[in-house]
Amino acid sequence: MINITIVGGGSAGWMTATTLLNQFPNKKITLVESSNISNIGVGESTVPGINRWLKLVDIDFLDFMPHTDSVFKLSIAFKDWYRKNSGTFHYPFGPSRHQYVKFGTKELHEIELTDWHLKKIFYPETPVSDYAEWFYPSMALINQNKYFPNQSDLDRGELDSEHAYQFDATKFGMWLRDTYCNTNSNFTHILGEVEETPLNDNGIKYLLLDDGRRLEADLFIDCTGFKGILISDDILMKALRYGLKNNAIRALDAGCNLILHCNGNIREMSKLTKIIPKIDKFTQKKTSDLYKFLG
Ligand SMILES: Cc1cc2nc3c(=O)[nH]c(=O)nc-3n(C[C@H](O)[C@H](O)[C@H](O)COP(=O)(O)OP(=O)(O)OC[C@H]3O[C@@H](n4cnc5c(N)ncnc54)[C@H](O)[C@@H]3O)c2cc1C
Repeated sequence: MINITIVGGGSAGWMTATTLLNQFPNKKITLVESSNISNIGVGESTVPGINRWLKLVDIDFLDFMPHTDSVFKLSIAFKDWYRKNSGTFHYPFGPSRHQYVKFGTKELHEIELTDWHLKKIFYPETPVSDYAEWFYPSMALINQNKYFPNQSDLDRGELDSEHAYQFDATKFGMWLRDTYCNTNSNFTHILGEVEETPLNDNGIKYLLLDDGRRLEADLFIDCTGFKGILISDDILMKALRYGLKNNAIRALDAGCNLILHCNGNIREMSKLTKIIPKIDKFTQKKTSDLYKFLG
């Protein structure tokens, strides 16, 4: 039996395992994940495209929602998107009126688009948020915090809507593991850290785990997540509005592993070394890899 091995037990790993088990019922699927390297543990926002995947793998939203801290999500709200205090602009999911309403043989949006712009010209105080209200009937539901997840309850037409989910991505992965993958006899879950991937002419020969085990497979799929380091731009750039120290701290808080300070001023550098933390082990390892590579 063909064996496909996935490395990584984050959301990518468990969604890949679920897809393969569903689409290839006659293949052996193995997932190996390290118990020492944690998954990223953030990321909870989805868009409606996820429903196409759920349909593909036969998962109903009622199955996972109670176990993953899920709520329905009908739009993405951009607060003060246009300018400060301009209100919230919603990007509503689902079709807009102009996508499905016809006026005789003419698409209604050709008229409505002009209408909205005329309204804005004649009444400049019209907030930009009005655009979404105008074109998306689902805004009526969004504004009232209401939803009919079962579309058959809804007489489609004007109130047509589409949803995504806000959930705990780690719990979602664990739910897929326990409910979907571990219950399938073609699935094997292995805890172990891949230390080496020796190659031959066909690609990866096997995975060497930290406990010495060797895992062979016909196909390997890498779902080990983001492994690089993030480096800031020069923190002295004029485009940055804060001072030297503040820019450095903000870059680190935003997730950068390294910050660039490029003017060569030793006094500034010594100021910075007093406030920024020591380089962490991960960044140390990554940068030493680079020095090794450069020789
Ligand atoms: C602040 C922030 C907010 C985000 N918000 C969103 C959002 O709202 N919506 C969204 O869709 N995405 C969001 N993302 C992105 C999303 O979190 C990630 O893309 C996603 O979680 C990555 O999942 P992953 O499975 O690829 O990797 P990870 O979750 O990092 O999992 C990696 C897995 O690989 C394993 N592993 C690593 N190395 C080895 C090894 N050598 N041997 C064995 N196993 C190994 C680890 O143990 C782990 O199980 C956000 C990201 C961040 C940083």
